[in-house]
Amino acid sequence: MVDPMDDDPKHYCGVVAMALDVRAAPELKRALRVMQHRGQEAAGIAVSDKGSLSYLRGAGLVHEVLGGKEFDSLKGCVGIGHVRYATTGTSCSDNAQPIVVTSAAGDVALGHNGDIVNSAKLRSKYQSDGWAFLTTTDSEIIVRILANELKQGADPVKAIRSTMKLLDGAYSLVIMIGNRVFGVRDPLGFRPLCLGKLSRGYCLASESAVFDILQGEFIRDILPGEVIEITTDSYSSSRTARPSSRAHCMFEWVYFARPDSVIDGREVYEVRKIIGKILAREHPVDADVVIPVPDSGRAHALGFAIGSGIPYDEGLMKNRYIERTFIMPEQLQREEGVSIKLNPIRSTIKDKRVVVVDDSIVRGTTLRKIVQMLRRGGAREIHVRIGCPPVVAPCYYGVDMKTREQFIANNKTMPEIAEYLTADSLGYISLKGLEEALNIPENDLCLACLNGEYPTNVPGEKMRFQRKLDI
Ligand code: SF4
Repeated sequence: MVDPMDDDPKHYCGVVAMALDVRAAPELKRALRVMQHRGQEAAGIAVSDKGSLSYLRGAGLVHEVLGGKEFDSLKGCVGIGHVRYATTGTSCSDNAQPIVVTSAAGDVALGHNGDIVNSAKLRSKYQSDGWAFLTTTDSEIIVRILANELKQGADPVKAIRSTMKLLDGAYSLVIMIGNRVFGVRDPLGFRPLCLGKLSRGYCLASESAVFDILQGEFIRDILPGEVIEITTDSYSSSRTARPSSRAHCMFEWVYFARPDSVIDGREVYEVRKIIGKILAREHPVDADVVIPVPDSGRAHALGFAIGSGIPYDEGLMKNRYIERTFIMPEQLQREEGVSIKLNPIRSTIKDKRVVVVDDSIVRGTTLRKIVQMLRRGGAREIHVRIGCPPVVAPCYYGVDMKTREQFIANNKTMPEIAEYLTADSLGYISLKGLEEALNIPENDLCLACLNGEYPTNVPGEKMRFQRKLDI
Protein backbone atom coordinates (compact mmCIF):
# COMPACT_ATOMS: atom_id res chain seq x y z
CA MET A 1 0.00 0.00 0.00
CA VAL A 2 1.23 3.44 -0.86
CA ASP A 3 0.14 6.60 0.89
CA PRO A 4 -1.23 8.72 -1.94
CA MET A 5 -1.11 11.91 0.11
CA ASP A 6 2.61 11.69 0.28
CA ASP A 7 4.72 12.80 -2.69
CA ASP A 8 8.00 12.57 -0.82
CA PRO A 9 10.60 10.29 -2.38
CA LYS A 10 10.29 6.69 -1.20
CA HIS A 11 13.17 4.58 -0.07
CA TYR A 12 13.25 0.93 -0.84
CA CYS A 13 14.68 -0.75 2.21
CA GLY A 14 16.47 -1.20 5.51
CA VAL A 15 18.52 -4.27 6.45
CA VAL A 16 19.84 -5.84 9.64
CA ALA A 17 21.93 -8.91 10.54
CA MET A 18 22.85 -10.38 13.92
CA ALA A 19 25.05 -13.10 15.42
CA LEU A 20 24.12 -13.47 19.11
CA ASP A 21 24.42 -15.95 21.96
CA VAL A 22 20.64 -15.80 22.52
CA ARG A 23 17.65 -16.23 20.21
CA ALA A 24 18.05 -13.65 17.45
CA ALA A 25 14.47 -13.19 16.18
CA PRO A 26 13.20 -10.83 18.95
CA GLU A 27 16.27 -8.58 18.60
CA LEU A 28 16.01 -8.57 14.80
CA LYS A 29 12.37 -7.55 15.12
CA ARG A 30 13.26 -4.70 17.48
CA ALA A 31 15.94 -3.52 15.05
CA LEU A 32 13.47 -3.56 12.16
CA ARG A 33 11.02 -1.47 14.17
CA VAL A 34 13.78 1.11 14.68
CA MET A 35 14.16 1.21 10.89
CA GLN A 36 10.45 1.10 10.01
CA HIS A 37 10.81 4.51 8.32
CA ARG A 38 12.99 2.86 5.63
CA GLY A 39 10.11 0.70 4.38
CA GLN A 40 6.51 0.25 5.47
CA GLU A 41 5.18 -2.10 2.82
CA ALA A 42 6.77 -5.43 3.75
CA ALA A 43 9.00 -6.93 6.40
CA GLY A 44 10.72 -10.21 7.14
CA ILE A 45 13.24 -12.15 9.17
CA ALA A 46 15.28 -15.29 8.37
CA VAL A 47 17.11 -17.13 11.14
CA SER A 48 19.37 -20.15 11.25
CA ASP A 49 19.42 -22.73 14.00
CA LYS A 50 22.74 -24.55 13.51
CA GLY A 51 22.31 -24.32 9.74
CA SER A 52 18.59 -25.10 9.68
CA LEU A 53 16.94 -22.02 8.22
CA SER A 54 13.45 -20.69 8.88
CA TYR A 55 11.84 -17.42 7.88
CA LEU A 56 8.76 -15.26 8.17
CA ARG A 57 7.98 -12.41 5.80
CA GLY A 58 5.03 -10.64 4.22
CA ALA A 59 3.25 -7.40 3.42
CA GLY A 60 2.69 -4.99 6.28
CA LEU A 61 4.43 -3.18 9.09
CA VAL A 62 6.99 -5.03 11.22
CA HIS A 63 4.60 -5.64 14.12
CA GLU A 64 1.90 -6.87 11.73
CA VAL A 65 4.11 -9.33 9.84
CA LEU A 66 6.11 -10.53 12.84
CA GLY A 67 3.40 -10.29 15.49
CA GLY A 68 1.69 -13.67 15.24
CA LYS A 69 2.30 -17.11 16.73
CA GLU A 70 4.53 -18.18 13.82
CA PHE A 71 7.13 -15.75 15.10
CA ASP A 72 7.76 -18.03 18.08
CA SER A 73 8.94 -20.78 15.73
CA LEU A 74 11.87 -18.67 14.51
CA LYS A 75 14.68 -20.34 16.45
CA GLY A 76 18.39 -19.77 16.19
CA CYS A 77 20.99 -17.25 17.29
CA VAL A 78 21.92 -15.83 13.90
CA GLY A 79 19.69 -14.13 11.38
CA ILE A 80 18.94 -11.30 9.02
CA GLY A 81 15.97 -8.95 8.59
CA HIS A 82 14.54 -6.55 6.06
CA VAL A 83 11.94 -3.79 5.72
CA ARG A 84 10.77 -2.83 2.27
CA TYR A 85 8.92 -0.16 0.37
CA ALA A 86 7.27 -1.49 -2.80
CA THR A 87 6.06 0.63 -5.68
CA THR A 88 2.40 0.56 -6.69
CA GLY A 89 1.55 -2.47 -8.78
CA THR A 90 4.14 -4.84 -7.36
CA SER A 91 2.97 -7.58 -5.08
CA CYS A 92 4.28 -6.81 -1.62
CA SER A 93 4.12 -10.33 -0.22
CA ASP A 94 5.78 -11.98 -3.24
CA ASN A 95 8.61 -9.47 -3.19
CA ALA A 96 9.09 -9.39 0.59
CA GLN A 97 12.56 -10.21 1.84
CA PRO A 98 14.75 -11.93 3.00
CA ILE A 99 14.81 -14.00 -0.17
CA VAL A 100 15.71 -17.60 0.56
CA VAL A 101 17.21 -20.08 -1.93
CA THR A 102 19.10 -23.35 -1.66
CA SER A 103 22.66 -23.85 -2.82
CA ALA A 104 25.18 -26.69 -2.83
CA ALA A 105 26.67 -25.08 0.28
CA GLY A 106 23.35 -24.89 2.18
CA ASP A 107 20.43 -22.48 2.40
CA VAL A 108 21.12 -18.86 1.52
CA ALA A 109 19.04 -15.88 2.70
CA LEU A 110 19.56 -12.32 1.48
CA GLY A 111 18.25 -8.83 2.25
CA HIS A 112 19.05 -5.97 -0.13
CA ASN A 113 18.92 -2.19 0.08
CA GLY A 114 19.56 -0.48 -3.27
CA ASP A 115 19.01 -1.11 -6.95
CA ILE A 116 21.09 -3.04 -9.45
CA VAL A 117 21.44 -0.99 -12.63
CA ASN A 118 22.33 -3.96 -14.87
CA SER A 119 19.63 -6.26 -13.46
CA ALA A 120 17.60 -6.45 -16.70
CA LYS A 121 20.69 -7.53 -18.61
CA LEU A 122 21.62 -10.12 -15.96
CA ARG A 123 18.03 -11.42 -15.78
CA SER A 124 17.78 -11.96 -19.53
CA LYS A 125 21.24 -13.56 -19.68
CA TYR A 126 20.41 -16.07 -16.94
CA GLN A 127 16.89 -16.67 -18.26
CA SER A 128 18.37 -17.63 -21.59
CA ASP A 129 20.63 -20.02 -19.64
CA GLY A 130 17.42 -21.66 -18.33
CA TRP A 131 17.16 -20.02 -14.89
CA ALA A 132 13.64 -19.39 -13.58
CA PHE A 133 13.00 -16.37 -11.34
CA LEU A 134 10.17 -16.40 -8.83
CA THR A 135 9.99 -12.64 -8.16
CA THR A 136 10.44 -9.42 -10.12
CA THR A 137 13.16 -8.10 -7.82
CA ASP A 138 16.77 -7.46 -8.67
CA SER A 139 17.55 -8.87 -5.21
CA GLU A 140 16.56 -12.35 -6.40
CA ILE A 141 19.09 -12.04 -9.23
CA ILE A 142 21.82 -11.35 -6.66
CA VAL A 143 20.93 -14.29 -4.44
CA ARG A 144 20.62 -16.70 -7.37
CA ILE A 145 24.01 -15.69 -8.76
CA LEU A 146 25.47 -16.11 -5.28
CA ALA A 147 23.86 -19.54 -4.84
CA ASN A 148 25.33 -20.54 -8.20
CA GLU A 149 28.78 -19.44 -7.05
CA LEU A 150 28.44 -21.42 -3.84
CA LYS A 151 29.59 -24.79 -5.09
CA GLN A 152 30.03 -27.46 -2.44
CA GLY A 153 32.89 -26.54 -0.12
CA ALA A 154 33.20 -23.05 -1.66
CA ASP A 155 34.57 -20.19 0.42
CA PRO A 156 31.52 -17.92 1.02
CA VAL A 157 33.61 -14.74 0.90
CA LYS A 158 35.06 -15.71 -2.48
CA ALA A 159 31.56 -16.52 -3.76
CA ILE A 160 30.27 -13.13 -2.55
CA ARG A 161 33.17 -11.35 -4.20
CA SER A 162 32.62 -13.19 -7.49
CA THR A 163 28.96 -12.14 -7.33
CA MET A 164 29.90 -8.51 -6.67
CA LYS A 165 32.02 -8.47 -9.83
CA LEU A 166 28.86 -9.01 -11.88
CA LEU A 167 26.77 -6.31 -10.20
CA ASP A 168 26.56 -2.68 -11.21
CA GLY A 169 24.68 -0.25 -8.98
CA ALA A 170 23.72 0.22 -5.36
CA TYR A 171 23.66 -2.62 -2.87
CA SER A 172 24.00 -2.88 0.86
CA LEU A 173 23.39 -6.56 1.59
CA VAL A 174 22.91 -8.81 4.57
CA ILE A 175 23.48 -12.47 3.73
CA MET A 176 23.13 -15.68 5.70
CA ILE A 177 24.80 -18.80 4.32
CA GLY A 178 24.08 -21.81 6.52
CA ASN A 179 24.93 -20.53 9.99
CA ARG A 180 27.25 -17.72 8.86
CA VAL A 181 26.24 -14.06 8.54
CA PHE A 182 27.79 -11.47 6.23
CA GLY A 183 27.35 -7.82 5.32
CA VAL A 184 28.34 -6.28 1.99
CA ARG A 185 28.49 -2.69 0.77
CA ASP A 186 28.87 -1.91 -2.93
CA PRO A 187 32.20 -0.42 -4.07
CA LEU A 188 30.77 3.12 -4.28
CA GLY A 189 28.94 2.98 -0.94
CA PHE A 190 25.60 4.36 -2.16
CA ARG A 191 23.51 3.04 0.73
CA PRO A 192 24.60 3.00 4.36
CA LEU A 193 25.55 -0.09 6.35
CA CYS A 194 27.22 -0.08 9.74
CA LEU A 195 28.61 -2.40 12.40
CA GLY A 196 27.71 -2.41 16.06
CA LYS A 197 28.31 -4.42 19.22
CA LEU A 198 25.29 -5.53 21.24
CA SER A 199 25.48 -7.00 24.73
CA ARG A 200 24.94 -10.53 23.32
CA GLY A 201 26.87 -10.33 20.04
CA TYR A 202 27.48 -8.35 16.85
CA CYS A 203 25.05 -6.59 14.55
CA LEU A 204 24.98 -4.99 11.09
CA ALA A 205 22.31 -2.43 10.29
CA SER A 206 21.42 0.23 7.73
CA GLU A 207 21.35 2.86 10.48
CA SER A 208 23.36 3.39 13.64
CA ALA A 209 20.25 4.37 15.66
CA VAL A 210 19.61 0.60 15.92
CA PHE A 211 22.64 0.18 18.16
CA ASP A 212 21.59 3.04 20.47
CA ILE A 213 18.07 1.73 20.88
CA LEU A 214 19.21 -1.88 21.43
CA GLN A 215 21.64 -0.49 24.02
CA GLY A 216 24.64 -1.48 21.98
CA GLU A 217 27.54 0.47 20.65
CA PHE A 218 28.28 1.79 17.16
CA ILE A 219 31.67 0.53 15.94
CA ARG A 220 32.02 1.85 12.40
CA ASP A 221 30.57 2.15 8.91
CA ILE A 222 31.14 -0.76 6.57
CA LEU A 223 33.55 0.56 3.95
CA PRO A 224 32.54 0.75 0.30
CA GLY A 225 33.49 -2.55 -1.32
CA GLU A 226 33.87 -4.32 2.04
CA VAL A 227 32.61 -7.82 2.84
CA ILE A 228 32.32 -8.37 6.58
CA GLU A 229 31.43 -11.50 8.55
CA ILE A 230 30.05 -11.24 12.08
CA THR A 231 30.04 -13.93 14.76
CA THR A 232 28.89 -13.87 18.37
CA ASP A 233 32.20 -12.55 19.62
CA SER A 234 34.09 -11.05 16.69
CA TYR A 235 34.02 -9.80 13.13
CA SER A 236 36.36 -10.16 10.19
CA SER A 237 36.64 -8.10 7.07
CA SER A 238 37.63 -8.49 3.46
CA ARG A 239 37.93 -5.56 1.07
CA THR A 240 37.54 -5.58 -2.67
CA ALA A 241 39.40 -3.03 -4.74
CA ARG A 242 37.40 0.18 -4.78
CA PRO A 243 37.34 3.16 -7.10
CA SER A 244 39.17 6.31 -6.05
CA SER A 245 35.86 8.02 -5.27
CA ARG A 246 32.62 7.04 -3.53
CA ALA A 247 28.97 7.80 -4.20
CA HIS A 248 27.15 8.20 -0.89
CA CYS A 249 23.49 9.12 -1.53
CA MET A 250 22.99 12.71 -0.36
CA PHE A 251 19.28 11.97 0.23
CA GLU A 252 20.14 9.81 3.23
CA TRP A 253 21.13 12.95 5.14
CA VAL A 254 18.57 15.28 3.56
CA TYR A 255 15.50 13.12 4.10
CA PHE A 256 15.68 9.33 4.44
CA ALA A 257 17.68 8.43 7.50
CA ARG A 258 16.62 8.96 11.10
CA PRO A 259 17.99 12.24 12.47
CA ASP A 260 19.66 10.32 15.32
CA SER A 261 21.68 8.10 12.97
CA VAL A 262 25.31 8.72 12.06
CA ILE A 263 26.10 7.88 8.44
CA ASP A 264 29.62 7.84 7.06
CA GLY A 265 30.82 9.98 9.93
CA ARG A 266 28.08 12.64 9.85
CA GLU A 267 25.13 12.79 12.23
CA VAL A 268 21.97 13.28 10.19
CA TYR A 269 20.37 15.80 12.57
CA GLU A 270 23.47 17.98 12.65
CA VAL A 271 23.72 17.98 8.84
CA ARG A 272 20.06 19.00 8.51
CA LYS A 273 20.50 21.87 10.95
CA ILE A 274 23.54 23.12 9.03
CA ILE A 275 21.53 22.87 5.79
CA GLY A 276 18.93 25.16 7.42
CA LYS A 277 21.58 27.68 8.48
CA ILE A 278 23.06 27.77 4.97
CA LEU A 279 19.58 28.12 3.49
CA ALA A 280 19.01 31.17 5.73
CA ARG A 281 22.29 32.65 4.48
CA GLU A 282 21.54 31.94 0.81
CA HIS A 283 17.86 32.97 0.86
CA PRO A 284 17.31 35.57 3.60
CA VAL A 285 13.82 36.96 4.13
CA ASP A 286 12.06 39.37 6.49
CA ALA A 287 9.59 37.24 8.42
CA ASP A 288 7.99 36.75 11.85
CA VAL A 289 8.19 32.99 12.32
CA VAL A 290 9.91 29.88 10.90
CA ILE A 291 7.85 26.68 10.84
CA PRO A 292 8.73 23.16 9.60
CA VAL A 293 6.75 20.79 7.43
CA PRO A 294 6.58 17.99 9.99
CA ASP A 295 8.35 15.76 10.59
CA SER A 296 11.17 15.62 8.09
CA GLY A 297 11.60 19.42 7.71
CA ARG A 298 12.00 20.01 11.45
CA ALA A 299 15.81 20.08 11.80
CA HIS A 300 16.18 22.11 8.59
CA ALA A 301 13.67 24.66 9.94
CA LEU A 302 15.43 24.86 13.28
CA GLY A 303 18.71 25.55 11.46
CA PHE A 304 17.00 28.24 9.38
CA ALA A 305 15.67 29.88 12.55
CA ILE A 306 19.12 29.81 14.19
CA GLY A 307 20.78 31.13 11.02
CA SER A 308 18.24 33.90 10.42
CA GLY A 309 17.45 34.88 14.01
CA ILE A 310 13.72 34.51 13.23
CA PRO A 311 11.81 32.64 16.00
CA TYR A 312 11.05 28.94 15.41
CA ASP A 313 7.58 27.58 16.16
CA GLU A 314 5.31 24.69 15.24
CA GLY A 315 2.78 25.86 12.67
CA LEU A 316 1.40 22.56 11.40
CA MET A 317 -0.01 19.71 13.46
CA LYS A 318 0.49 16.26 11.96
CA ASN A 319 -1.92 13.40 12.49
CA ARG A 320 0.38 10.42 12.88
CA TYR A 321 -2.30 7.75 12.91
CA ILE A 322 -3.77 7.78 9.43
CA GLU A 323 -0.89 7.13 7.10
CA ARG A 324 -1.45 3.49 6.28
CA THR A 325 -5.17 3.11 6.67
CA PHE A 326 -6.24 6.15 4.74
CA ILE A 327 -5.85 5.16 1.10
CA MET A 328 -7.32 7.55 -1.44
CA PRO A 329 -6.16 7.07 -5.01
CA GLU A 330 -7.84 9.95 -6.81
CA GLN A 331 -6.37 13.44 -7.08
CA LEU A 332 -9.46 15.01 -5.52
CA GLN A 333 -9.15 12.67 -2.59
CA ARG A 334 -5.41 13.35 -2.41
CA GLU A 335 -6.16 17.03 -1.95
CA GLU A 336 -8.55 16.23 0.87
CA GLY A 337 -5.94 13.86 2.25
CA VAL A 338 -3.38 16.58 2.92
CA SER A 339 -5.82 18.38 5.19
CA ILE A 340 -6.58 15.19 7.06
CA LYS A 341 -2.88 14.62 7.61
CA LEU A 342 -1.91 18.23 8.48
CA ASN A 343 -3.72 21.13 10.10
CA PRO A 344 -2.39 24.66 10.78
CA ILE A 345 -1.87 25.99 14.29
CA ARG A 346 -3.54 29.38 13.94
CA SER A 347 -1.93 31.13 16.90
CA THR A 348 1.48 30.53 15.28
CA ILE A 349 0.66 31.81 11.81
CA LYS A 350 -2.29 34.23 11.95
CA ASP A 351 -1.37 37.63 10.46
CA LYS A 352 2.31 36.56 10.39
CA ARG A 353 4.94 36.50 7.69
CA VAL A 354 5.74 32.78 7.75
CA VAL A 355 8.83 30.91 6.49
CA VAL A 356 7.87 27.27 5.90
CA VAL A 357 10.83 24.90 5.55
CA ASP A 358 10.70 21.44 3.95
CA ASP A 359 13.44 18.91 3.22
CA SER A 360 12.85 18.54 -0.53
CA ILE A 361 10.33 18.95 -3.36
CA VAL A 362 9.64 16.21 -5.89
CA ARG A 363 6.23 16.89 -7.48
CA GLY A 364 5.22 19.82 -5.28
CA THR A 365 1.57 18.73 -4.99
CA THR A 366 1.61 18.31 -1.21
CA LEU A 367 3.58 21.50 -0.59
CA ARG A 368 1.11 23.51 -2.70
CA LYS A 369 -1.72 22.23 -0.48
CA ILE A 370 0.27 23.13 2.63
CA VAL A 371 0.88 26.69 1.42
CA GLN A 372 -2.82 27.08 0.63
CA MET A 373 -3.70 25.66 4.04
CA LEU A 374 -1.41 28.16 5.78
CA ARG A 375 -2.98 30.97 3.77
CA ARG A 376 -6.47 29.85 4.83
CA GLY A 377 -5.18 29.67 8.40
CA GLY A 378 -4.46 33.41 8.28
CA ALA A 379 -0.75 33.67 7.33
CA ARG A 380 -0.05 37.10 5.79
CA GLU A 381 2.98 36.04 3.71
CA ILE A 382 4.34 32.55 3.02
CA HIS A 383 8.00 32.06 2.09
CA VAL A 384 9.01 28.52 1.13
CA ARG A 385 12.57 27.33 1.78
CA ILE A 386 13.80 23.90 0.66
CA GLY A 387 16.75 21.97 2.14
CA CYS A 388 17.65 20.12 -1.07
CA PRO A 389 18.55 21.56 -4.48
CA PRO A 390 15.97 20.99 -7.25
CA VAL A 391 15.48 17.31 -8.13
CA VAL A 392 15.70 17.06 -11.92
CA ALA A 393 16.85 13.54 -12.84
CA PRO A 394 15.71 9.97 -12.03
CA CYS A 395 17.31 7.77 -9.41
CA TYR A 396 18.48 4.31 -10.48
CA TYR A 397 19.96 3.41 -7.10
CA GLY A 398 17.04 2.45 -4.88
CA VAL A 399 14.80 5.50 -4.58
CA ASP A 400 11.39 5.63 -6.21
CA MET A 401 11.99 8.65 -8.47
CA LYS A 402 11.94 7.12 -11.89
CA THR A 403 10.76 9.61 -14.51
CA ARG A 404 11.80 13.19 -15.27
CA GLU A 405 8.18 14.21 -15.88
CA GLN A 406 7.33 13.81 -12.19
CA PHE A 407 9.83 16.47 -11.05
CA ILE A 408 8.37 19.95 -10.77
CA ALA A 409 11.84 21.50 -11.18
CA ASN A 410 12.33 19.72 -14.47
CA ASN A 411 9.67 21.58 -16.38
CA LYS A 412 9.20 24.86 -14.48
CA THR A 413 11.40 27.87 -13.75
CA MET A 414 11.86 29.07 -10.15
CA PRO A 415 9.21 31.83 -10.48
CA GLU A 416 6.86 29.29 -12.07
CA ILE A 417 7.37 26.87 -9.18
CA ALA A 418 6.73 29.65 -6.64
CA GLU A 419 3.59 30.57 -8.55
CA TYR A 420 2.44 26.93 -8.64
CA LEU A 421 3.02 26.65 -4.89
CA THR A 422 1.19 29.95 -4.43
CA ALA A 423 4.13 31.10 -2.28
CA ASP A 424 5.31 34.71 -1.86
CA SER A 425 8.90 33.57 -2.35
CA LEU A 426 10.84 30.35 -2.87
CA GLY A 427 14.46 29.39 -2.18
CA TYR A 428 16.28 26.08 -2.56
CA ILE A 429 19.68 25.43 -1.00
CA SER A 430 22.35 25.47 -3.72
CA LEU A 431 24.38 22.40 -4.66
CA LYS A 432 27.45 24.13 -3.25
CA GLY A 433 25.57 24.89 -0.03
CA LEU A 434 24.51 21.24 0.31
CA GLU A 435 28.10 20.06 -0.21
CA GLU A 436 29.23 22.53 2.46
CA ALA A 437 26.64 21.16 4.91
CA LEU A 438 27.58 17.55 4.22
CA ASN A 439 31.28 18.35 4.45
CA ILE A 440 32.03 15.38 2.23
CA PRO A 441 34.01 15.90 -1.00
CA GLU A 442 31.77 16.23 -4.07
CA ASN A 443 33.47 13.24 -5.70
CA ASP A 444 32.45 11.05 -2.76
CA LEU A 445 28.74 11.86 -3.10
CA CYS A 446 26.00 10.73 -5.45
CA LEU A 447 24.26 13.90 -6.63
CA ALA A 448 22.84 12.35 -9.78
CA CYS A 449 19.20 13.29 -9.20
CA LEU A 450 20.36 16.91 -8.78
CA ASN A 451 22.90 17.26 -11.58
CA GLY A 452 22.22 14.34 -13.95
CA GLU A 453 25.77 12.95 -13.56
CA TYR A 454 25.54 9.28 -12.66
CA PRO A 455 28.34 7.59 -10.72
CA THR A 456 27.91 4.36 -12.71
CA ASN A 457 27.12 3.64 -16.29
CA VAL A 458 23.35 3.95 -16.78
CA PRO A 459 22.12 3.35 -20.33
CA GLY A 460 20.91 6.65 -21.83
CA GLU A 461 22.35 8.83 -19.04
CA LYS A 462 25.56 10.80 -18.56
CA MET A 463 28.26 9.27 -16.45
CA ARG A 464 30.02 11.35 -13.80
CA PHE A 465 33.08 13.34 -14.91
CA GLN A 466 31.65 13.84 -18.36
CA ARG A 467 30.57 17.33 -19.40
CA LYS A 468 28.39 18.99 -16.78
CA LEU A 469 24.70 19.26 -17.60
CA ASP A 470 23.35 22.69 -18.37
CA ILE A 471 20.66 22.94 -15.71
FE1 SF4 B 1 20.50 9.36 -3.84
FE2 SF4 B 1 19.72 10.95 -5.84
FE3 SF4 B 1 21.90 9.39 -6.10
FE4 SF4 B 1 19.46 8.30 -6.03
S1 SF4 B 1 20.29 9.67 -7.62
S2 SF4 B 1 21.30 7.59 -4.95
S3 SF4 B 1 18.41 9.66 -4.56
S4 SF4 B 1 21.61 11.11 -4.67
